[in-house]
Amino acid sequence: MQVNNQKIVVLGTGGTIAGESASETESLNYQAAQRSIADLLKPISGQTMQGPASIQPFAIEAVQVAQIDSKDMDFEVWRRLAVCCSDHLSRDEVKAVVITHGTDTLEETAYFLSQVIHIDKPIVLTCAMRPANFKDADGPQNLRDALNFAAQARGRGVWLVAAGEIHHSQYVQKVHPTRLNAFDSGEWGAAASVHEDQIKWLKSFEKNKPQSGSNGILKAIDLPEVAQWPWVEIVTHHVQSNGRALSLLVKAGVHGVVVAGTGNGSLSASLKDALLSAQSHGVQVCVASRCNQGPVLPTENHVFKTAGELNAVKTRVALILDLMSKQKKSEADLFESGSPFSI
Ligand code: ASP
Repeated sequence: MQVNNQKIVVLGTGGTIAGESASETESLNYQAAQRSIADLLKPISGQTMQGPASIQPFAIEAVQVAQIDSKDMDFEVWRRLAVCCSDHLSRDEVKAVVITHGTDTLEETAYFLSQVIHIDKPIVLTCAMRPANFKDADGPQNLRDALNFAAQARGRGVWLVAAGEIHHSQYVQKVHPTRLNAFDSGEWGAAASVHEDQIKWLKSFEKNKPQSGSNGILKAIDLPEVAQWPWVEIVTHHVQSNGRALSLLVKAGVHGVVVAGTGNGSLSASLKDALLSAQSHGVQVCVASRCNQGPVLPTENHVFKTAGELNAVKTRVALILDLMSKQKKSEADLFESGSPFSI
């Protein structure tokens, strides 16, 4: 019997959207991750607020994957979340996955999932800037918009829905610590807007649509135990960048370094020397920009790999996954050629 997508699975991970403050007028001092995902869904699936028409055909299934402030997001939760997304999206009856997440590290999680989930269905993240009990909480509307988008979006892609905008995981970043529309996709712009349940794709995005690509090798199921994930740090280039911090990292055994260079990835002579030395010790180096918009365009002056359009934190995710897939490949090659320890 063929079952067609009848469900949207909502995964809760915590964040301000699930947060509570001491009073309904306090939006800065609060505790993130207090309400369960089932509680957050009540106003949408219950009596008080009817969900958008697009979600009526779908049953909503809620799963609490974690309950944390996203500043504490870690590889353990990422691994669990990726496997959970993959398992649910693999079910024929599931149309899409929606994830509630804190805003602070959302762009890293979104990009990570875009690289390890290879299933032709959408993943839609949403969040809030005000705790759930604030008098004008933004969470319920964001969650409603996210479900609406998940019910209509097609194909593979990881998205953020917040403050009436829909952003692609490749470009989106948090750009403001407190305002309601805290996310932006820089010069690439939002992909679509949502107003009174109407989703409108933006022409500028149609032109800049990213490939729904990934490192292509690793899948959620291939992610190793967290203890085996490579150690990759970000080093920022600034006035008097002398490479001392980098040498300490190399000494401590770092596997990869992303440099948030100035402008188009420029680096002082001494940091460049320190990076070359790190590279000669087997450390992988990639250069992004500390500017908050625009890609790093490779020039003759770049001696290291450049990050392209990814910001530094997403470049770090890409480098972690790249190192992991190289590790996996060399293990597979070793297996094929026979273990050096076999008789
Ligand atoms: N610190 C919170 C978090 O990232 C901020 C938020 O959700 O807006 O979980």
